[in-house]
Amino acid sequence: MSNVLNERDRAASSCPQSEALYARACRVIPGGVSSPVRAFRAVGGTPLFMERGAGAYIFDADGRRYLDLVCSWGPLIAGHAHPEVVAAVSAALARGTTFGAPCAGEVELAERVVAAYPAVEQVRFVSSGTEAVMSAIRVARAFTGRDLIVKFAGCYHGHADHLLVAAGSGLATFGRPSSAGVPEAFTACTRVLPLDDESALRALFAREGASIAAVVIEPVPANHGLLPQRAEFLAALRELTRQHGALLIFDEVICGFRLARGGAAEVLGIRPDMATFGKVIGGGMPVGAFGGARAMMARLAPDGDTYQAGTLSGNPVAMAAGLATLDLLERTAGWQRLEMLGAELESLLKPVLARAPFPIHLVRTGSLFWMSFHASGAPRTAAALTAHDTARYGALFHAMLARGIYLPPSAYEGCFLSLAHTSPDLKVFVHALDESLAAIA
Ligand SMILES: *Cc1c(COP(=O)(O)O)cnc(C)c1O
Repeated sequence: MSNVLNERDRAASSCPQSEALYARACRVIPGGVSSPVRAFRAVGGTPLFMERGAGAYIFDADGRRYLDLVCSWGPLIAGHAHPEVVAAVSAALARGTTFGAPCAGEVELAERVVAAYPAVEQVRFVSSGTEAVMSAIRVARAFTGRDLIVKFAGCYHGHADHLLVAAGSGLATFGRPSSAGVPEAFTACTRVLPLDDESALRALFAREGASIAAVVIEPVPANHGLLPQRAEFLAALRELTRQHGALLIFDEVICGFRLARGGAAEVLGIRPDMATFGKVIGGGMPVGAFGGARAMMARLAPDGDTYQAGTLSGNPVAMAAGLATLDLLERTAGWQRLEMLGAELESLLKPVLARAPFPIHLVRTGSLFWMSFHASGAPRTAAALTAHDTARYGALFHAMLARGIYLPPSAYEGCFLSLAHTSPDLKVFVHALDESLAAIA
């Protein structure tokens, strides 16, 4: 992408420390990264190694400061190193990092989740969103005595084998692994449907409804851009799962405790049977959680026959980070503030996007937003971008980086606002976007 940068941008983009670290990393870490999208492959260039964060800003290894619109992909709803979160973590740290025994923090955080989310009567903690979804599905299968699970193309539920399944378009497809190393037998019980398509949903339930243990969906899909669904589609999903005795699992790993205290379920007014959490619930520490009705969760060991465990699950330091973050959100009307911030950004962005040299469509739900580069408009399904569109996004990404703005390094990833972002930050962002769009035209 460096060929699309002008002189000023090229000069601003040199990052010798990150380059040196990346060269070392590539020798000992596959692709130089611990999670693939961090490698900048979708936008080109050298991934920036980050050294510290403060509020809405991050600082790279070369000492350059960026306004952060990634927020660690969602967890940092309070911003980087929020003093209250840091204090809570430090206090917990001083008492010990892990006990391998129950601790009060788990009880407190579980009580918070149960109070916030009516569908969840009991909850168990794990260390990632991946584990949360994997475990919820195991419980759903045990509870229903059925094997099939249904997911939607474009929804991400972590990297468990049976959920790494490619998109089928139009019709339900039998699950085919979209990753090497996943035997077809492992995904044989997974069905993939397109989003936004009631008739495909009805057809699948008519055919296999009696074998479906659960349908898992991101209630506001946010892993293939942002694809808010029609209320009618979600209502049909709720109705069909209920009719056929299948569980509806809301994967709230992104939306939970971000869109509202009661997550997307509260915003949409739909009660799922189970829900999974991650990201915000850990306040920047590795935490996931899954829960549902008592009768479902009772299937878990030690009371039930369904095994699930974790050496660091319910970790006291991680629980402290989650609790401090939820405290802050509740005490400061955080969810209202985030919605106001999102609305302000939307009104600032509108005129800038309207005069952009090519079509860009803003999609926003609360503090989540996505600038869709689809020439044909913002999609509601997992539509692929053309190579031309992704190249444009790469150019924009680097033009913004040169202006001190850190966007997600992929056209398919949405942006996150935090409580640390201010009105002046939004103006800086929008101004840089205006300039960058002109620069790459
Ligand atoms: C991030 C994410 C996951 C996976 O969580 P990890 O903590 O990365 O394992 C699962 N579901 C959704 C909706 C996510 O956004």
